[in-house]
Amino acid sequence: MKVMKFGGSSLKNADGFRTVAKIIKNEKDKKIVILSGVCGVTDTIQQYLNYKKFDEIAIQGLIQHLRRLHFKISSEAITDKAIFKRVQEIINKKIEKLERLLRGVYYVRELTDKTRDLILSYGERLSVPILAGTLCDRSVKAQVFEADNLGILTNGDFGNAIAILHLSSNNINQKILPTLKKNIVPIITGFFGCDNNGHTTIFGRNGSDYSASVIANAVNADEVDLWKDVDGFMNVDPSIINEAHLLNHLSYKEAAELAYFGAKILHPRTVEPLAKKDIKLVIKNTNKPQGIGTIIGNNGYSKQLVKSIVHSKDIACIKIHGPGIGNKPGVLSEITSNISSNKINIKSVITSQTCITLLLENKDLTKSYEILATNKIKTVEKLEKIKDIALIAIVGEGLLEHHGIAARVFSSIAKKGINIEMISAGASEAAYYFIIKEKFLRESIKAIHDELQ
Ligand code: ASP
Ligand code: MG
Repeated sequence: MKVMKFGGSSLKNADGFRTVAKIIKNEKDKKIVILSGVCGVTDTIQQYLNYKKFDEIAIQGLIQHLRRLHFKISSEAITDKAIFKRVQEIINKKIEKLERLLRGVYYVRELTDKTRDLILSYGERLSVPILAGTLCDRSVKAQVFEADNLGILTNGDFGNAIAILHLSSNNINQKILPTLKKNIVPIITGFFGCDNNGHTTIFGRNGSDYSASVIANAVNADEVDLWKDVDGFMNVDPSIINEAHLLNHLSYKEAAELAYFGAKILHPRTVEPLAKKDIKLVIKNTNKPQGIGTIIGNNGYSKQLVKSIVHSKDIACIKIHGPGIGNKPGVLSEITSNISSNKINIKSVITSQTCITLLLENKDLTKSYEILATNKIKTVEKLEKIKDIALIAIVGEGLLEHHGIAARVFSSIAKKGINIEMISAGASEAAYYFIIKEKFLRESIKAIHDELQ
């Protein structure tokens, strides 16, 4: 059995939906489909929610835009008038609900995390009926399931939830297996589940990848195909290195590290539920369905030790200075718990005798700094914010067991006269990373790539 997930980048317009329907129809195996929202819809809703002048006019504008967009796509993708009418009615109902929610937020002037998650889930709730209609139009029987009604249960962490696999499995199987038996293709909304009070909780941006692996884990699928608009993972950023090539095989650990350190094509938690059951993960391109893509499983291991050089500019750090700070019991936990209780994720921590360095995403820098500056912690003497840095990670399973590679990487950068600001190795068997000034990013990547050729 296969789980097929289609991302927003494959759902730009009616053509996209037709292509997706064709790929599903051509798949001979039993299949379950997970769907993202139409391209850009989650972004648009998010932008409106962050908009300072979020008033009735803005709400009307958003609702009008969403109605037009989803009507246009479905009217072009679905030829049968009766099917189109049904889909249109469903879209209308969903949009009315969304409008009520948005007005509620406006009237009470309060947007809680809970309501935000519910509102953001509408991108997916609006796209599934279009695909079901497009399939129906091509004589493929399909049934829509919204993930919260289906019973994908989460830990209730709004904005960045984790699915509770053993609790979700039963719910999923109870509804999905009978559907498959009747030869009906289940079309499930990606991106969210619900907590044990039934409140919608999203899995973080691009969370539909993770939804697909949660479903695959529940039904013991043989394979998960993530359909995107790229061929798969690359060995290096092709916008920096012309000869960049596609990676056909990766291990679960390598894929997880690549996603964590900046390869945007995979939600970082996707491999967890799959590795547990050794379910194969394949990245495929909807524009080139015959391509091999990247296959991720237990045996990504190959002769080539360094699989990929990945980078991220979305990185900033705070240095917390103080005498002996690195070995005073309790200081680190005080710092991290202050920050994480504000729902900020610390990407990494590096400590020394006199300094603790926190790596954060850019968006979290100012808030984290304020938190640390206002909650005075003993022994902290000085806080320092550092922006304009970039992270480069070298990923490959078995890297840490081999000597000499790190030395080659670092000396290739040193030869260019570029300073390495920080290094971290050892936390993962499949990756190490270091920090440089952002302005040296391209040059550093070129130097490492040349050295490891
Ligand atoms: N629609 C959501 C997002 O854009 C989830 C996804 O596409 O995976 O983040
Ligand atoms: Mg998306």
